[in-house]
Amino acid sequence: MKTHTKLMTFTIAILMSTCSYAADKIISTDVVVVGGGSTGLSAALTAAQGGASVVVLEKNPYLGGSSAFAEGLFAVESEYQRAASHGLTKDEAFKHIIEFNHNKIDNSLIRNYVNKSADNIAWLNEQGIDFRLIQISPEEPRVWHIIEDREHFIHGGALITALQQKAKKAGVKFLLRTPAKKLIYSDNKVTGVEAEDHKGNKIVIKAEAVVIATGGFGNSKKKIAEWTEYNPETFLPALPLNKTGDGIQMAKDIGAKTEGEGLMVYLAARGAGIIPMQGINAMSWQPTNLWVNNSGERFTNEAVAFSFGKAANSVGRQHGNMAWAIFDDASVDYATHKGIDQGIGVIVPTTTKLTGLRTEIDNALAVNSDGVKTASSIEALAKEIGVPVDTLKKNFNDYNSYSENGYDAQFVKDHKWLRPLNHGNLYAIKIMPNHFTSIGGLNINTKMQVLNQDNQPITGLYAGGVEVGGLYGDTYTLWASGHAYGFAIHSGRTAGTSILKEIK
Ligand SMILES: Cc1cc2nc3c(=O)[nH]c(=O)nc-3n(C[C@H](O)[C@H](O)[C@H](O)COP(=O)(O)OP(=O)(O)OC[C@H]3O[C@@H](n4cnc5c(N)ncnc54)[C@H](O)[C@@H]3O)c2cc1C
Repeated sequence: MKTHTKLMTFTIAILMSTCSYAADKIISTDVVVVGGGSTGLSAALTAAQGGASVVVLEKNPYLGGSSAFAEGLFAVESEYQRAASHGLTKDEAFKHIIEFNHNKIDNSLIRNYVNKSADNIAWLNEQGIDFRLIQISPEEPRVWHIIEDREHFIHGGALITALQQKAKKAGVKFLLRTPAKKLIYSDNKVTGVEAEDHKGNKIVIKAEAVVIATGGFGNSKKKIAEWTEYNPETFLPALPLNKTGDGIQMAKDIGAKTEGEGLMVYLAARGAGIIPMQGINAMSWQPTNLWVNNSGERFTNEAVAFSFGKAANSVGRQHGNMAWAIFDDASVDYATHKGIDQGIGVIVPTTTKLTGLRTEIDNALAVNSDGVKTASSIEALAKEIGVPVDTLKKNFNDYNSYSENGYDAQFVKDHKWLRPLNHGNLYAIKIMPNHFTSIGGLNINTKMQVLNQDNQPITGLYAGGVEVGGLYGDTYTLWASGHAYGFAIHSGRTAGTSILKEIK
């Protein structure tokens, strides 16, 4: 393949330079990767390091997708865990993940992923990426490998720049602002993609293998409405990343099978004057709050806040997909001086002292925020948040009596998180489900080959990352913190390796 590779690389160079002003360009390469996030870059680098010529198409003017904003990867039995004497085994992790998802997932895919997860971390080490180990909450094991900052880039940004540099060195060509539009397909075989550059030129990339890694459909309200059970008007994306399900759609158009489309939901404080992922948001995640829905009823054990997906499920099923997190002045003082009991990942770590919280609350109140309210009594707070006074008062009094007795007869919250709300003013923050990304999509096998309606691989077509199915039941597996990022690397590497075997 070496001579072939050189020839192909040469062909790419010639065609790209001679055709730069032509209406149509044709590029020939061994592999075309659609999407320049962590899945795409891992696939591209693996294939290029194995001697293949590779072109990466990226829709945005920059690489990285949501991988550039994410923080850490799941792995088990890594060197970092060995150094920390963390005893969780691959077998235990595998069994737990299957159980967490009620067996609604692909056991073989998960088994391979868990088994290879430590090796994926070691491979990233070889690419110059370092990690530190974190336990995201008391309920999850110590499996989250946080990417260390590098060359002024933090977390995911550091990983993306490292892989990009390595890929460039290995000869990978990047075409930015050049979204793939259509797969070239006939007789159950994919032989390339059609793309369009920012000037509207149509580019045909002929390839022996295509890897779809476009990061899901989280920024398409239309596809969320059509493909999932969620309301796109209330379940909002964390970031505007322009990810509109292109890869899944292109594969569906040629007969690919899909499963498990959903969202990686988390809980967000929502309203005017609230800065995302800062103090008010962190305060709304505290297990010591009282949560009520818009009828004024308590509806769950609020310590579910330790697991952001389950917390968003709980709030998401309330009328209007919303609730209020209620706390008092003593809670604000505790968060300010003692530090929070539940952090927002590594963005606002657990034990952070929210020294700016009172100012953030005052600023939100000053703009008459619809998401932050305060009052000196529960009756007045009920009016502020628009719920029936008598219902809220009863729920509030019941909650305080459970807290004083140290036993939550209603939803059995651990006594550690039961603190009566009877000091000073009361506050309420509106909480609603957001999502980090979509999950689910294309059916694949363990080689990351995309399957057709007859469960057979479509020749030449591979996929990975957050747009494949078989990984989650209905809720993101936060127990295996970093599951999506770890799988992005795993699936990218696996697709690259599978392709090298196929085309040699
Ligand atoms: C704020 C935030 C924090 C997160 N933190 C974590 C975390 O710590 N751990 C974790 O496991 N997960 C986390 N996630 C989820 C994260 O998205 C996934 O883990 C993973 O990074 C997804 O990788 P990917 O390669 O599949 O998609 P992406 O990284 O999104 O890459 C997809 C790429 O495809 C491009 N693209 C789209 N359409 C086309 C097209 N038609 N043609 C060409 N290119 C196209 C996109 O522009 C993008 O660059 C987080 C997400 C967010 C938003």
